Amino acid sequence: MNDPFPISPPRAWAEIDLAALKNNLEVARAVSGGNLMAVVKAGAYGHGLEPIASAIASSNLAFFGVANVGEARRIRNAGVTTPIYLLGPTWTGEREEIVAKNWTPCLSSLEEAQHFNSIATAAGQSLKVHLAVDTGMGRGGFSPDHLRECMPTLEHLTHLEIDGIGSHLPSADEDKEFTRGQIARFHAVLAELGTSRFKWRHLLNSAGMLAYDRGECNLARPGLMLYGVSPLPEFQQQLATVMTLKARVTLVRWLPAGHGVSYGRQFVTPKPTRVATLGIGYGDGYPRHVSGNGADVSVHGRRCPILGRVTMDQIMVDVTDASEVSEGDEVEMFGSNIPVAELAKKADTIVWEIFTGITARVTRCYPPETPEHPHSSSPPFTKTPDPP
Ligand SMILES: *Cc1c(COP(=O)(O)O)cnc(C)c1O
Repeated sequence: MNDPFPISPPRAWAEIDLAALKNNLEVARAVSGGNLMAVVKAGAYGHGLEPIASAIASSNLAFFGVANVGEARRIRNAGVTTPIYLLGPTWTGEREEIVAKNWTPCLSSLEEAQHFNSIATAAGQSLKVHLAVDTGMGRGGFSPDHLRECMPTLEHLTHLEIDGIGSHLPSADEDKEFTRGQIARFHAVLAELGTSRFKWRHLLNSAGMLAYDRGECNLARPGLMLYGVSPLPEFQQQLATVMTLKARVTLVRWLPAGHGVSYGRQFVTPKPTRVATLGIGYGDGYPRHVSGNGADVSVHGRRCPILGRVTMDQIMVDVTDASEVSEGDEVEMFGSNIPVAELAKKADTIVWEIFTGITARVTRCYPPETPEHPHSSSPPFTKTPDPP
């Protein structure tokens, strides 16, 4: 009450370039041949669910793809009316709401289909559903053989409208031969059941879209590429960086030779070293696992190595060769100077996990898109409240 102090700016924040997001969406559209399901699960891969969904809601999308009903609800509460698709199997407790809100599930079993049908019947409604086919992912969907057997029963569920069919690729960025076989299996299912009976036919994620033909598919499900990262490095230059993770320098000083830095004293200065402390750590989602693996940050466009272990709230970097660095300076943890894919590799993980691991403590900022600087990410920018 009557706090005389303005709210201090954050120490760690993520700048989200919405113009770059829209650029990548158009790249995805061009690659896919038209219809897109924009995958915005896990808070739009950590970019902020409501701001991202709102930013592209009027971009003529066929669906938003989400992981669960909580995410679907948040999109609707943000005033976005684009159809919503739930990417995995649903459990019984979610289904009443899915029917009532007219969201689109993909079915993995006859039991799931029959339960949806009975809820829809009781509600006097008809529900559009997609069929999920397991062509090799092993996570959900009917096996092709089982789907063939179930098809007559599925078609007699009077309150379900079979509106689409989809499958998912586990290795589109790793195993060409397996992926080609999977695409062939999906097309065999389509041919057998009748391609044209399915309004929507979808199989390809980002890697699939970039590296394989769509065949009879008329809908693609890009996730990662929308956020500016190609799972296949050869396509990276077509995409624009969306998220830049930044932090402030909170302290700069010289440490003498032989001085340990951070927990466990894994790093000991071999010579007098100018050390900057940054106000970010693994509590913000910066991966602790990079400790000792030679990760850099970028200060004023210059690479500076991380020293010792990443701590919960702070990280030390060597600024001996960056004499201009001083307290309060902005540091890029990843972005256009330090590719997030490089960081993921040094953390022995994948970009998807880095993005979704950025915690609620990091303020997401959405700089306004200006016609003169469509990709500018410099302040002033608007902030949204911290996610819950
Ligand atoms: C997450 C997901 C996608 C998006 O995958 P990317 O590799 O991020 O493009 C597509 N389809 C399904 C079923 C998913 O779960």
